[in-house]
Parts: sequence; C-alpha cells; structure tokens
Amino acid sequence: MPSLSGERSPGEPLKNGNSLIDSLPVRQRKGVLALCDRVDIALGTVLCKAGEPFQYVYFPISGSVSLMRSHHGRDPLETESVGSEGMLGAVLVLNINRAFQSGVVQTPCVALRMTGARMRAALKNQPALFRALQRYLYVVLSELPQTASCINFHDVGNRLAKSLLQAHDRSPSDQLSLTHQRLADMLGVQRGAVTIAAIKLQREEIIRYSRGRITILDRKRLEESSCGCYNESLNNYSAIFS
Ligand SMILES: [Zn+2]
Repeated sequence: MPSLSGERSPGEPLKNGNSLIDSLPVRQRKGVLALCDRVDIALGTVLCKAGEPFQYVYFPISGSVSLMRSHHGRDPLETESVGSEGMLGAVLVLNINRAFQSGVVQTPCVALRMTGARMRAALKNQPALFRALQRYLYVVLSELPQTASCINFHDVGNRLAKSLLQAHDRSPSDQLSLTHQRLADMLGVQRGAVTIAAIKLQREEIIRYSRGRITILDRKRLEESSCGCYNESLNNYSAIFS
C-alpha cells in the first residue's frame, strides 16, 4: 500500500506515516494531529462493532485492521482490511456514525486515534480532511465490486498470493503471523483450500510456513503468483494521493 511516510520538505513537520493524514496541507495536518492520541493496539483487539457507534476512529501507521462481516452463524468473513493508507471510521464523512462491519486488529498496530465526536467536528471545520476522506471512501467503495469479481473469478492460490502481498506491505518484516484459519477467514474459503495453496507456494520456495508464521522468501515471484487485483488495488489507493 502506498505510504508517504518520511517525505519531508524544508520547514515541514515530519509526516507521521498515515498516508491520509500525510496528504493534508501542513496546517490542516497539524490540526488533525493535535486531536489524535498515538496508541499501540494488540492483535485481536476489537476497534468497532457492527451496528454500534464509533467511539473512536483510527488512522493506522503500521499493522492492519480487518473489517469482518458475520453471516447467520457462519465464521466471520474479512471483506476489507485497513492499513496505513487509510482509516477506520471513514463513513463519518457521510454523516453516518455507525459501523456496518466489525473492525479487528489483524496485525499489531500503531495508530493515531481520535474520538468520534472530535472527528465529526473536524470534518465540519477542515475541508481538506473532508475532501481526503471523500476520495478515500470513493476508492474503498470502488474496491467492493473488484473484490466480488476476485472471489468469483480468481483462483484461491492467486488470491492467497494477493492477500500475502497486502499483509507483507503492512508488516515491518518478512515474517507474517497468519494461521491457515486466519487466511481462510480472509479469503472466505475452507481451511483445506488454503493449506493446498500454501503448500504449493512453499514447494516453489516462495514462502515458508511454520506454526502460524509465514515467511516471504521471494517477493517478486509472489507478485507473479498473484491475480492482477493486487496491482489494481495498489493503483487505486495511490491515485488518492497523486
Ligand atoms: Zn483477484
């Protein structure tokens, strides 16, 4: 995922690592940062629950949050994940203060956190923030039909490679803490299907899997193993900040 972290012009405050906030003009960026706390969030923490108001919104700097949807007693399915390119709670820009999916930390996060009340006030007072969130939400919404197409038309192995690439983009190292069950939840398939696809990638020495830990051995060949949706998604998010 795109990150503008670390880019700095003379006299400009250091960018914090969340691309949405970093894309704001300096004065507005300072204003938003003044409203945020920086928090470390553990794996598995539930940040919002479907149907409930946002107590806080989150701008991840590292790690990722899975947006999960339950279907009548079935295991929850990941419909989207959020990393440093985006935020949790962007629907506030539509004047909707209710999550329609639960947000669960997928990989331990460092994030900027703001109360929902402060975010609503900031959206009224800061047009640059409002516009940035509008563009972000447009890309998130445009990803939904792409995700549906990917699930319907692309092979589990290609989709697994795509998910691993996205997790790798949000990880500080080549090691990812992902069980087969977790990957099955992300892909919406049975665990056995993930195991078969993971074994194939391991035999080709693209990844190594051991006790819930996946090591990316060959990033270039993992990219070649992915469906084109990975690059499409990357381009969509990059367009927000161009
Ligand atoms: Zn795909």
